Amino acid sequence: MPETGVMGTITLFCETKGMNRMDMSTVALVPVSSYGQAEVDAAVRTGVELLGGIGAFVKQEEKILLKPNLLSGALPQKAITTHPAVFSAVCRLLREAGYAHLSYGDSPGNPVTTPEKAADVSGISEAAEKWHLEKADFDAGSVVRFPEGKTAHSFYLCKGVQEADALINLCKMKTHALERITGGVKNLYGCVCGAKKAVGHAQYPSSEVFADMLADLNLCVKPRLHIMDGITAMEGNGPTSGVPRAMNVMLFSADPVAMDTVFCALISLNPATVPTCVSGERAGLGTMNADRIRILTPEGEITCARAAEKYGQPDFDVRRDKLSRSFFMKLMPLLPFLQDRPKVDRKKCVACGLCEKACPVPEKAVKSGNGKKAVYDYKKCIRCYCCQEMCPAKAITVYHGMFAKK
Ligand code: SF4
Ligand code: SF4
Repeated sequence: MPETGVMGTITLFCETKGMNRMDMSTVALVPVSSYGQAEVDAAVRTGVELLGGIGAFVKQEEKILLKPNLLSGALPQKAITTHPAVFSAVCRLLREAGYAHLSYGDSPGNPVTTPEKAADVSGISEAAEKWHLEKADFDAGSVVRFPEGKTAHSFYLCKGVQEADALINLCKMKTHALERITGGVKNLYGCVCGAKKAVGHAQYPSSEVFADMLADLNLCVKPRLHIMDGITAMEGNGPTSGVPRAMNVMLFSADPVAMDTVFCALISLNPATVPTCVSGERAGLGTMNADRIRILTPEGEITCARAAEKYGQPDFDVRRDKLSRSFFMKLMPLLPFLQDRPKVDRKKCVACGLCEKACPVPEKAVKSGNGKKAVYDYKKCIRCYCCQEMCPAKAITVYHGMFAKK
């Protein structure tokens, strides 16, 4: 019997393109106008239903970990962290469907905060208490071997991640100085324990190699479902110091690369310039090929191009130049005037010393604190931008060389 409705449209779309529907990744896109709890609850229900229902991803008897983006802990309106209304809506969905074993956690990158403080400030603790979620242990961790990794063969994973049977990734739609965007693939780095994250930056010291490691991390942790909070996104100097931007969508997928690719489509960014999309596809984590991504909305299936037209904001402030994989681009770091680097606005710097603490280079490529404003030694700098991510005064931006384009 021929399929009708959304499924019929999908079949027709795939047959027209000469593709098997099973080869494709699906992303649900749900428009959301605000963080009003009732609207977000309905959006989460719709998004998950479009993908086949929560039972398609997790079983009732499993221990399920919710992994929001808590970064350094910030008020929800700053658009740095996953909004508590989104977190709460996912808790409601799971509880109402009879899921009993729920926990939550994230390991913040900020060296002077704790997972508990970050969850408190961002409003996640309060939502978790309301739905009786356990705090997963994101303070302790141990090495987990991953011999099948192409780049990383082990990870220092938080105990809370290791104790869970299944992880649901609740990521935030934002820009990122190192990886250009932080969506589904990047958010998993919070599964790595506290200070070990800085070690990872030193171990994988370029956006491309770091993205290769992130793809391996995703393959190791195997999140079952990714949900992106794009109701208010962050553009510009993300992931901490950018500007909130209303995008008014939520994305849902089992494929984080496809989901990040739809994010790219919405902001008119070529996914081939996003290291986590390139590495993710190469590692077999998912697809960034728009022809292999089905986008399901409450009104039916649409293409990436149509999603961009209907829901996108092409002037979104994000870095858009090519990745440094070409021969010419590889030469750029040899020429100082072309070289990417963090730079400090000394008028904004409050000499807090956080950038020095966050710097993963043992001999520290930035010195600050005790009344001294930040000073860089670019010869030691590995361009990881942990300092920019952690600066509470938005004093650090990234200079992308004279040929960089927005
Ligand atoms: S640059 Fe930012 S993090 Fe570094 S000392 Fe100044 S205010 Fe603190
Ligand atoms: S100075 Fe900043 S960008 Fe350079 S290595 Fe240290 S944290 Fe990374």
